[in-house]
Parts: sequence; C-alpha cells; structure tokens
Amino acid sequence: MKRTRRRSYSVFIFALLFIIGMFVFVFRWFSDGRSWANMPYNGHYAATGIADGGTITDCYGELLAYSSDGERVYNSREDVRKATLHMVGDTSTNISTSIQSIYRSSISGYNILFGASSFGKLLSNTNMQLTIDSAACAAAYNALSGRNGAVVVYNYKTGELLCSVSTPTYDPASPPEISSDDTAYDGVYLDKTLSGLYPPGSTFKIVTLCAAIENIPDVEDMTFYCGGSTDIDGHKVTCMDSHGELTLKEAFSHSCNIAFAELSCKLGKETLEKYADSLGITSSYKVNGNPTAKGNFDLSKAIKAEVAWAGIGQYTDEVCPMNMAILSAGVARGGSTIIPHTVKNTSLIDLSAVMSSKSLIKPSTAAKIKDMMRSTVSDYYGDWSFPSLTVCAKTGTAETGKNDDAHGWITGFTLDEDCPLAFACVVENGGLGFYSAGNVVSQTLETIADNMRNEN
Ligand SMILES: [Zn+2]
Repeated sequence: MKRTRRRSYSVFIFALLFIIGMFVFVFRWFSDGRSWANMPYNGHYAATGIADGGTITDCYGELLAYSSDGERVYNSREDVRKATLHMVGDTSTNISTSIQSIYRSSISGYNILFGASSFGKLLSNTNMQLTIDSAACAAAYNALSGRNGAVVVYNYKTGELLCSVSTPTYDPASPPEISSDDTAYDGVYLDKTLSGLYPPGSTFKIVTLCAAIENIPDVEDMTFYCGGSTDIDGHKVTCMDSHGELTLKEAFSHSCNIAFAELSCKLGKETLEKYADSLGITSSYKVNGNPTAKGNFDLSKAIKAEVAWAGIGQYTDEVCPMNMAILSAGVARGGSTIIPHTVKNTSLIDLSAVMSSKSLIKPSTAAKIKDMMRSTVSDYYGDWSFPSLTVCAKTGTAETGKNDDAHGWITGFTLDEDCPLAFACVVENGGLGFYSAGNVVSQTLETIADNMRNEN
C-alpha cells in the first residue's frame, strides 16, 4: 500500500512538472518566438527566410529590396545599392544594425501560429516602407567619391531619416569575399553613422559656445585677439589663421581656436564636461533600436592647454555622427531635439514614442547658437554653396593624431519650412571640412529638397 502511494506521488509530481514546463514553453513561444526565428544562428531561416521575404521601398516607393523566385533582388542602380547597404542590409546578417537584420522575422513573414511556413507569410506583414530617400543616399555616396565617412540627414520636424550612408560599402547584389586583413574594407560591416567615433574638431565649438553663453557674463560683448597662436602654461595652441580682433560671433563663424581656447580655460573642466554630457556628445541614443556610439569627453587628466584643445574639439574628444546631427536638430528646434527613425510602417514602431522630444538646450541659448551658425554660412562661407536652401552650419577639420590628412566635418540644419533638415557628415582624411564634408552635404541636401518640393 505504502509503495503504491509513493508511486502515485511520483507520477503526480512528474505530471505537475510537465504541465508547468508546457506553460513556460507556450508563454515563451508567444513572447519570444519572433526573436527565436530571427536568430542569426537559425541557419535554415537566415539563409532562406529573407530570400522569400517582403519588399522594402524608400519614402517615394522606389524598390530597394524584394524577392523573386527565391532570390533577394536589390535596386537596379549600383550606386543606390551601395549607398543603402548599411540601411537595408544584404542577405547575410553581417550588418547587424540593418533593416533586413533587425526586422528579419517581419520581412520573412514569421507568424506566431504558422511559423515561417508559406501560409504564415500570407498572413504576416511583410512589406516595409522606409523613410529614406534612396536618390539622396546615392547623391551622398557619389559625392564621397571613394572616400570613407558617414552622412546623416533627417527631417527635424518629423524625425524621418532621409539619408544615412556609411563607407566603405559593397554591392549587396554581389557581396565580395572579405578577408580580415583587407584594409579596403576596414569596418565595412559597421554603420558609421551609428557606430563611428571621430574627433569632432571645430564642430565641438557648438558645445563650448553653448557653455560660454550660459556661464560667462557678457560673453557676447567680449572681444578676442588672435595672433595665430597663443601660449598656455608653456604649451602652444595654434589657429588656422591670424584673425586679429574678433567678436564672439566672428570667432565662431571664423572658427578661431585662440578665442575658443580662451573661453575653454575660463569655463574649466567641470563645466565643459557637464555641457558635453547634457548636449548628448557622451550619450547613446536608440535609432531603430540600435544604440549610437557614446562619444568621449574626459578631462580628468587634462592639463590647462589640453582643456583648451578639448574645447576646440581635439585632445581625446570623440563623437558619433548621429549624435552630432541630433544636437544640430536640437538647435534648429529651439532647444529640444527629436531622435531619427527609419521605418514608416506604424504596425512595427510606436510613432508617438519615437517622436517624443528631448530637451537639450535652453531656448534662449539655442536661438543665439542658431544665429551664429547662420552667420557662419551667410557671412563666411557664402550662401552660394547651398543654392536652394537657407543653411546654418559649423564645420570642422579634425586632426587625427596620425601623419595623414585631417577629417573634414560639417553639421547644421536648414531654415526652410518646406525642407526642415538637420545633418552631420564626416569625410575621413578629407581635409578642410567645408570643402570636403560641406560639398557632400550640399549635394545631398539639394537632392532631398528637389524631391521633397516635387512631391508637394
Ligand atoms: Zn584665430
């Protein structure tokens, strides 16, 4: 009798464990099934899933990727394919931040009841429209003309990412065999708009300017003297030019290192670090769920001359191009910024969460920075460089610390109501920011504006 009772206890416990296990499995199947199907090591699915997947189009309906007879087909233009590689992705999952990687299960048609079967695909939402303008991406790619770098342009009113290009790139229609020591493809699987970190050079003067306006009394009435170089505790800080006497506005638009070195020393380590943090230089934002690279601004070991160099965007400063575009959008919007997004399908993203704004700068300070960024283009570089747009910008020419050409930078925004665009671009070893990155951005912005205006 005792033995029978012991046996029925064991059976009962096993049955209970089985039922609990089934509950856990069913719960996890519903909650995690989509991501299981999406795992890159799900070899069968990774290889075949996307090949039968839905279409991906740009904001004007241009086909970027679609499936035909079990093959993934990309845009008919090679420059569009290469320009949109990091955004769209290829058939592999090597570019883990791409749309075809992060939305793989949606595109492939994974369905909770029918898995990845063809019946499931019929029921699933498989077609995706992106916010990007693929012709503008191609314009940016062509303007880079073989140089490496990153280009970001987005609509600062809606958050729609219009152009995101990272080079080096390759053709997703015929991916090359890439060996790890092939320098021509260095970092090719990284989307540098999100993951790239570069010394910001003089684009960082936006941060120093913001700190100076809010912390140095009467800074807008100050004058500075630049004789081409200055001595800080026995260390030389140099300028690109010998600017003579300058107001703050002139010092910003002419990008005078001597004036900004003086401001940086007046502000000191703690204040500069506080502003680098609050303006998002050292933050990580989420773009399509992908984190942007946190920049670097650490003055803990800096001597006074290094604080001066840090305030003009050198020393150990580093910033991600996307974060720089987000900062410029904040200035354009009067202090509060918006994070870019790429997916138009409202079934896949929570648009109200995506479009919520984040306060970066006091509105009165943002207005002053905007005025000075406008003056940089109108009074210094000339509006001829952006024929159909009214642009506010700051350029940078960032020394790399190596024996090669500096990285060229530009960041800023347009004032045009019908084309509200914020941007950042870096051209690696491109030399002077305005002539390298400025030219790339000009061609990209003009293409976007043409398309936006023709659409309306
Ligand atoms: Zn100067």
